[in-house]
Amino acid sequence: MLLTKLLAKAVAWLGQLFCLLTLDMECALFSHRAPQPWPRREVPYVLDTSFAPDYQRRILRAMDAIERRTCVRFRPLGAQTTFLEVRSNQEWECSSNVGIKEVGKSIMTVDTRGCAGHRILLHELLHTIGLHHMHQRNDRNDHVRVCRWSIKLYAACNFVKLFSETYGLPYDLSSIMHYGNQTFAVDKNAYTVLPLRPWQGDMGPKDDLSPGDVAWVNRVYGCRCHYLGDDLPGAMPYEEWLSATTVKHHHLAPVDASECR
Ligand SMILES: [Zn+2]
Repeated sequence: MLLTKLLAKAVAWLGQLFCLLTLDMECALFSHRAPQPWPRREVPYVLDTSFAPDYQRRILRAMDAIERRTCVRFRPLGAQTTFLEVRSNQEWECSSNVGIKEVGKSIMTVDTRGCAGHRILLHELLHTIGLHHMHQRNDRNDHVRVCRWSIKLYAACNFVKLFSETYGLPYDLSSIMHYGNQTFAVDKNAYTVLPLRPWQGDMGPKDDLSPGDVAWVNRVYGCRCHYLGDDLPGAMPYEEWLSATTVKHHHLAPVDASECR
């Protein structure tokens, strides 16, 4: 038993070390993992019964913030067999599957002591509906410098370059899916992610989605009647991106324009 535990720890440690050493490479082991969006733009969910009513309201408030600006809908679980389970843990962990798992439960797990804030719940729910971290885009080195040796080893895999599909949207330092400059730093004087150009804004998670985040969700889900970010500097207009993209399997066919009121 002890040996099995030690082996599992050693494998995890080696995996994290591998992540740390390959952060900047376009590593075949990590790339091309395009998350799958939820079909019909609906996320059936069930909440852990141990959550206090106040905490349940916090989760619903974060879901509502996403629903108000996108066409993604969270629905209490009915007869569906593929759904989101929001689970409680006691290990100070806040994490989520990215996108739908094809069969069975997608898990978002939260420790109510450490994951109480609106921004953390929003961030995790965006993972659930299929968004990776902004700073894991393959083109991130054109915009930020990741300081490898300042990252806590256990978090190294959260800094690996991971995906190339940008949905025609510009790199967004203000994204709620972007880490702050000291997230997972080894100490309070260390920086893990630094913008390459002077940046006036507030980098990293905040209490709301950025316009780029809203457009990102709406492009993944084909929310043609919602904000698609066509006016963002450097964005490719949605319809142009849609007709140019050759990869169809990780975004949904758009809502018919005739449905827009
Ligand atoms: Zn995250």
